[in-house]
This record gives sequence, C-alpha cells and structure tokens, in this order.
Amino acid sequence: MDSNRPPGIDLHIHSTASDGTYAPSEILSRAHAQGLAAIAITDHDTVDGCRQALATGVPDGLSFITGVEISAAPPPFFPVSGSIHMLGYGIALDNPGLSAILARLQDSRQRRNPRIIERLNALGLDISLAEVIHDGGTPDQMGRPHIARAMVKKGLVPNFDAAFDVYLGNGRPAYVDKYRVPFDDAVAAIRNAGGVAVIAHPGLYRSQDDLMGDDATAAFAAKGVEGLEVYYPEHSQRQTIHYSDLADRHGLLKTGGTDFHGGMKPGVVLGLGYGDLHVPTALFDRLQAAVNRRSRCAGTAAKEPGKDGT
Ligand code: AMP
Ligand code: ZN
Ligand code: FE
Ligand code: FE
Repeated sequence: MDSNRPPGIDLHIHSTASDGTYAPSEILSRAHAQGLAAIAITDHDTVDGCRQALATGVPDGLSFITGVEISAAPPPFFPVSGSIHMLGYGIALDNPGLSAILARLQDSRQRRNPRIIERLNALGLDISLAEVIHDGGTPDQMGRPHIARAMVKKGLVPNFDAAFDVYLGNGRPAYVDKYRVPFDDAVAAIRNAGGVAVIAHPGLYRSQDDLMGDDATAAFAAKGVEGLEVYYPEHSQRQTIHYSDLADRHGLLKTGGTDFHGGMKPGVVLGLGYGDLHVPTALFDRLQAAVNRRSRCAGTAAKEPGKDGT
C-alpha cells in the first residue's frame, strides 16, 4: 500500500459464492494485507459468501459489513433495459423474507443455465453443463461468466469478452432472460432484513437520458432507497461528480466499490479498481451508522407484524 494514501474501502466484492474467483477467506486476507479499512461482500443473489466470511473471522483492523446484490426489475419511472442492481448492506443473513427472494433467484438461475447451454448447442457449439460445473461453477449460483470461462477454456471463443459479445450478452443468440425481483419487493426485503438499499453503479443504466437525474433519484428515495453507489471503476469523473451531487441533493448515502470478481473480471483490482479508485473510509462510517439505525427500526417493526404487509 502507498503509505501516503489514507486507507480506503471496497463495498462491492464478489466471491466464489457467486461469480468471483476468490473465496471469502481469501478476500478478507487480501483486503487486510492491502490495508483496506472496510469491505462488504456483495454476491449476486446470495449471502453465502458473507456467511463464510463471518465463519472465517474478520481480521483485526478490517471492518466487515454484510451485503448482497439483487437483480431487480426497473421501476416504471426508470424504464431501462435489463436489471437494476440493488445493493443491500447490513442485512441480517437469516431473514426469512430476504431468504425467500434469494431462493427464488437461485432457482431461476438453475433453470436458466441449461437453457443457455441448449442454445449454444443449437448454434453448433460443443459444450455441456457438466463441463461448466466441473470448471468451478456451483449449480445454483453460477451464471454467464462461468459459461463464458468454460467456452474460452474449450477454445470455442478467443476470450471472455468475445463469449458475451458474440453469444451470451443481452440480445445475443444464446441470451436467455432471467427472473428479476419486482423493484419494490427488493427494497422491502433489504429494509425488512435490517439493511440499507443502495442503487448499484448508476452510471451503467442507459435510459432515455444519459444520466440518472433528479426526478428518478427523488422517486427512488421515495421508494425507500437510501444510497447511491457513487464510486465505481466504470464511472467517469463527470459521472462520479454527478452522482455525488445527486446523493447530496436528495439526502442519500454515498457508497463505492470495485465490483471485484477476481479472474472473472481481469484488470479490476480489489480496493483499487483499474488502479486509481479510492473510496473514502468516511462513507463506510456513515453507512454503518445508517444500518445501526435501520436495525433498531427493523427490530421494532418485527414486533408489529402486518404493519408493512409482511
Ligand atoms: P448473470 O448473472 O448470469 O446474468 O451474469 C451477469 C454477470 O456477467 C455480470 O455481473 C458481469 O460480471 C458479467 N457480464 C455481463 N455482461 C457482460 C459483458 N458484456 N462482458 C463481460 N461480462 C459481462
Ligand atoms: Zn458478477
Ligand atoms: Fe452489478
Ligand atoms: Fe457486482
């Protein structure tokens, strides 16, 4: 670590529990070795990686907050193509409502993967689900990145990006749509699990307008969203400033992280993104304070069943 640089944080990390290539224990030890102050593991549609991290034990000097990244359907006021990724921070890992949503997502993934393989086979590519699983995918959590990696290994495509560009990407011939959680349900599940809901990488959604603006942000906030992922490797400086200002104007928390996937996203380094990302530690302290407030509220709400329809 550059000793002149204050320690940073990384609140967007994928582990082997979803489509990352580092185990939760390795993520903890690397984050600690790099001098990061705090991390969150935010796997797609599962909290197993958080469970494993907590079972391993968080090294002294590193703070850990639970996380998840849920694929939600875009709400009517923000009609982008594909999914809105909702980050949930500080969630209780055993919350029944959240667990039910994650189980449904995993079930849909399990049914989608064989259909992708069928399409690849119909396109003349010789690949089987067994080969993808053999190559490190867990049947209920694997996704297109695992399939892409197996395709590269078999020499069916020259590289990982080509697998998406030619076959697996949205709108390409082997693409199969996936289940998305209704937006309101995703936010409610995160909040009812004592967590804080944050819109992941707002700069990646393409709507009619170039950037998510004040109207959409106000609507998201009205739905219970409490933060924006301002710091993200793919955000330009202009976008980072834009989302930071938006969060300030709407009283939202700011978060940031690299979307680290290990070997599934080569070039993105834990804590540093493409090398120059720095997420200020103060953001973690504010997020943790908000989670502490929410957990107290969720504890109260749990004693009043029916109040929020669950
Ligand atoms: P899945 O959850 O199976 O739909 O896969 C989504 C994951 O695939 C994302 O989190 C990315 O890591 C990766 N991905 C999606 N689109 C692309 C792309 N065009 N190129 C490379 N990776 C992609
Ligand atoms: Zn991913
Ligand atoms: Fe995402
Ligand atoms: Fe992610």
